[in-house]
Amino acid sequence: MSTLIQYLTTIHFGTGAIQQIPSLLAEHSIRRPLLVTDRALVELGMPARVPMLPAAVFAEVSTNPTEQSVLDGLEMYRAHQCDSIVAIGGGSPIDCAKCIGLLVNHPQPLEQYAVIRGGMAKISANKPPLIAIPTTAGTGSEVGRAALITMANGEKLGVISPHLIPTVAICDPELTLELPARLTAATGMDAISHCVETFCSIRDNPVADAIAIDGLVRGIRSLRHAVENGTDIFHRREVMMASLQGGLTFQKGLGMIHSLSHPLGAVPRKQLHHGTLNAIFLPHVLRYNAKAAAEKMQRIAHGVGLRTADELPDFFTSYVRDIGLPTRLSELHVTLTDLDGIAAAAMRDHSTASNPRTMCESDCDALLQIAL
Ligand SMILES: [Zn+2]
Repeated sequence: MSTLIQYLTTIHFGTGAIQQIPSLLAEHSIRRPLLVTDRALVELGMPARVPMLPAAVFAEVSTNPTEQSVLDGLEMYRAHQCDSIVAIGGGSPIDCAKCIGLLVNHPQPLEQYAVIRGGMAKISANKPPLIAIPTTAGTGSEVGRAALITMANGEKLGVISPHLIPTVAICDPELTLELPARLTAATGMDAISHCVETFCSIRDNPVADAIAIDGLVRGIRSLRHAVENGTDIFHRREVMMASLQGGLTFQKGLGMIHSLSHPLGAVPRKQLHHGTLNAIFLPHVLRYNAKAAAEKMQRIAHGVGLRTADELPDFFTSYVRDIGLPTRLSELHVTLTDLDGIAAAAMRDHSTASNPRTMCESDCDALLQIAL
């Protein structure tokens, strides 16, 4: 079986990288960009830090973006005759922007492009340019192929295609300096879980493995410092690099952590943070996968300074607690009733296929109970 290895994305990385915007707009002949962001970032004055004049600003993106927010953004794109999209924010505005851009030249409904509906083949390169500017260090969406959208029927589905990778990613760690400690920790754990899951994925891609293990070590080393002292630009930069590296390895596929956090994150009455859920599931999934990925686990253990892989789950539980995140779902007020149907949805998730150990619904159920 052959392996698909696809690089490179154009990335401007470093302090002050956002100042590249005017020359990038000129380079891509962009005249009327739609700026996609969210309300919280507008209140923080973040859009004003992008040196450009947008044709319109779309800020109605919720945490865990919905199909409706994509359609609202598309309407604004058309009403203002936009020719491109600039997305600034965490994973939600960037994922939403990817799907707004997709629907500019691809017919609706959006759900037909979900990867588990066979949508990847329907997505062509016929899309307006997208410049992605992350303000959190975690999702890696700025260089990733996926957009996670809660569809009108309530299912959180991955729309995935190499054509969804933003035209340019601008990673400027200065934009993360004001991120509160809790969000720094939660988004950082998302990045670390991407590195762990892609590294352990069953797909053979040594190039991505090298990136994933480097990102994991870098993230573990710096995240606690970035949480403790948010203005430390060195550690902010390191965590942003770990996030970028996690995103660059998505092509290997994720695993059980994401299979579980995607459907639980889609429970509408809860609005649970994706990275926080991953942080909770991480130690349990490491235990579950231990035998199936023994050699990889050993390499992770060495990378984070442990002697044996057996120590990994406890190491991560302590790490998550030390950076101020919950280690149990009940701390997020998740109840047994909220877990109804999550195991079945996890089995349908696109991340399940690349988990190193074959999963079944009862395994997912058992793991959810343990994590509760
Ligand atoms: Zn994630």
